[in-house]
Amino acid sequence: MNKGKVFLVGAGPGDPKLITVKGMECLQAADVIAYDRLVNKELLAYAKKGAELIFCGKLPGKHALIQEQINRLLVEKAEQGLIVVRLKGGDPCVFGRVGEEAEELANSGIPFEIVPGITAGIAAPAYAGIPITHRDHASSFAIVTAHGREQKGEDHINWEALAQGIDTIAFYMGVGNLPHICSQLIHHGKKPSTPVALIEWGTTTVQRTVTGELSTIEQKAKEHQITNPAIVLVGEVVGLREKISWFEDAILKQPMTL
Ligand code: SAH
Repeated sequence: MNKGKVFLVGAGPGDPKLITVKGMECLQAADVIAYDRLVNKELLAYAKKGAELIFCGKLPGKHALIQEQINRLLVEKAEQGLIVVRLKGGDPCVFGRVGEEAEELANSGIPFEIVPGITAGIAAPAYAGIPITHRDHASSFAIVTAHGREQKGEDHINWEALAQGIDTIAFYMGVGNLPHICSQLIHHGKKPSTPVALIEWGTTTVQRTVTGELSTIEQKAKEHQITNPAIVLVGEVVGLREKISWFEDAILKQPMTL
């Protein structure tokens, strides 16, 4: 029997319309869709009739085992000749473990494609009225995971380089680690008055944004009870939001239309 094929697809950051045309075509063609926790479930309505939908949400503390099971599932389904879509939030290559899955597929000789998506660290700021670069304010941008590893002595982040060399920084999985992020950036040379935005559930109809400074944002996060999924965005560009915030006002006034 012919081998099937696996498409590792970015679903976009939340607003279901932010999936790519190619991503949507893959969804519509799929026999099997294996989707992650942060994928907007509205997208599953585009699956063809009879497609098998498999939830692959990861349980905290069980990542390794479950990732192995997912890898095996993709291989097994493709070996049955099926078209498989592995649907991930945002872009599959940004903290999406696509490398591990693609490696397993390559090892097993399964054909696959990677379909990029719009990542939350760019899209959530855009929906909050914050362009991540700007001719006058920011000419560099970094994507960083801030996932609690420093507690185990495994913080591999080069804080000095980040603080001194990068204008705009998007931290993923960073809310729980906010005090550490702010103190490290200040310690390594960012001004305590550097603007920060926390954007929770970006690009969805429940998006919330809280702004402050490196020295004040921890308190504000507590006051507003900001939780993951959220982007911690650090940089002068955050100030632009005052003028060009557009989405949160629009969703307050009316349901989203094009
Ligand atoms: N592959 C994804 C990131 C997965 S890691 C992407 O490219 O966007 C999960 C982290 O992404 C969350 O903890 C959060 O920091 C961020 N994230 C994902 N969706 C988000 C959203 N709608 N709003 C804000 N942050 C989001």
